[in-house]
Amino acid sequence: MTTEAPVNLLNLTHAEMRNFFQEIGEKPFRADQVMKWIHHSGVDNFADMSNLGKALREKLSALACIQAPKIVDKHFSSDGTRKWVLEIDANNHIETVFIPGKNRGTLCVSSQVGCALDCSFCSTGKQGFQRDLSVAEIIGQVWIANKSFEDNPPARQKKSWAENERHITNVVMMGMGEPLLNFDAVVKAMQLMKDDFGYNISRRRVTLSTSGVVPKIYDLVKEIDVALAVSLHAPNDALRDQLVPINKKYPLAELLEACRYYLDYFQENRRRITMEYVLLEGVNDSVSQARELAALLRTVPSKINLIPFNSFPNSGYTRPQEKAIEAFRDVLIAAGYVVTLRTTRGDDIDAACGQLVGKVLDRTRRQVQWQKIHSQNLGEE
Ligand code: SAH
Ligand code: SF4
Repeated sequence: MTTEAPVNLLNLTHAEMRNFFQEIGEKPFRADQVMKWIHHSGVDNFADMSNLGKALREKLSALACIQAPKIVDKHFSSDGTRKWVLEIDANNHIETVFIPGKNRGTLCVSSQVGCALDCSFCSTGKQGFQRDLSVAEIIGQVWIANKSFEDNPPARQKKSWAENERHITNVVMMGMGEPLLNFDAVVKAMQLMKDDFGYNISRRRVTLSTSGVVPKIYDLVKEIDVALAVSLHAPNDALRDQLVPINKKYPLAELLEACRYYLDYFQENRRRITMEYVLLEGVNDSVSQARELAALLRTVPSKINLIPFNSFPNSGYTRPQEKAIEAFRDVLIAAGYVVTLRTTRGDDIDAACGQLVGKVLDRTRRQVQWQKIHSQNLGEE
């Protein structure tokens, strides 16, 4: 008789789920059924898995569990945006954001609590690194968001997942953290996002965003085919060293070489790397810097995502004026690049999600603090 802790099935990839079922003396197709219950139907209770026999349901209840992060706050706005504050453990919270677009719904997912890389304009970086998220904590964000559409469909839609009504069409690893520094868990979670028995999202619609952990880009290519976004933010090493300190370890030439490797590896003519570029007034937003950027990226098929800086208290940076942003964009367009510049709130997922996390976290902290004080007060009454 073992007294081991139950296995959290949200931590398991499809292959691992099959192994698990084999180990407990069950057929692999049972793993497929359970995957569907968990990821398609959002079920977290074995008793509800009606196509499993009673004996198997009881066995699973004894050996396993399905545990996503705890929702401590959620906000469904009338424009379709949904946000969740999730409790990871007693000290740590993360935020997950869903933002609907015209023909898509994008979920912004975190990979770590905090971040060790300390980019100068990022509020997550300012908080420092707390810890890595587990596979269950990463895919659990998708599970929670997906389930919210089952439980609370948008007013005009009533179809279920099985009827192929997709709400989450895209996932971007652009919440808190540097995904390539939590490599194994992030790769497994992205496998689940792509898996038919998981969330069945196409490889082009799962995006990993990195600030440039170069050796891990090579590893990533060998492990999984997903879209790649690179947080560039500067057209030369001198400036990038200041904004994105990991550049001192892996300078632009090495980063762009890794980008070319990624593109060559998949041999797809139309594939591009998304280069993210946060626009900071008077720092990296001049027309000459736009020209330098255009020249820098000539050898790397790219689309460029311009992100006007999202400000936070004491950041020391400001968002450039509209005119400067447009002038910067126009140089890149004239040089032949596809440029996205998203400024409307609802459409701003690529730009804003990392930022939202920080903001809501601060709010959560304040709430927790407030609750503490409040409960102390109550205790005294
Ligand atoms: N660590 C990864 C992914 C998370 S950050 C990375 O750096 O790529 C997701 C995106 O949000 C990155 O492009 C990041 O540079 C950007 N970002 C961070 N802080 C921002 C801010 N204050 N305003 C606008 N974008 C920001
Ligand atoms: Fe970390 Fe990305 Fe923020 Fe840099 S921008 S501190 S890598 S989360």
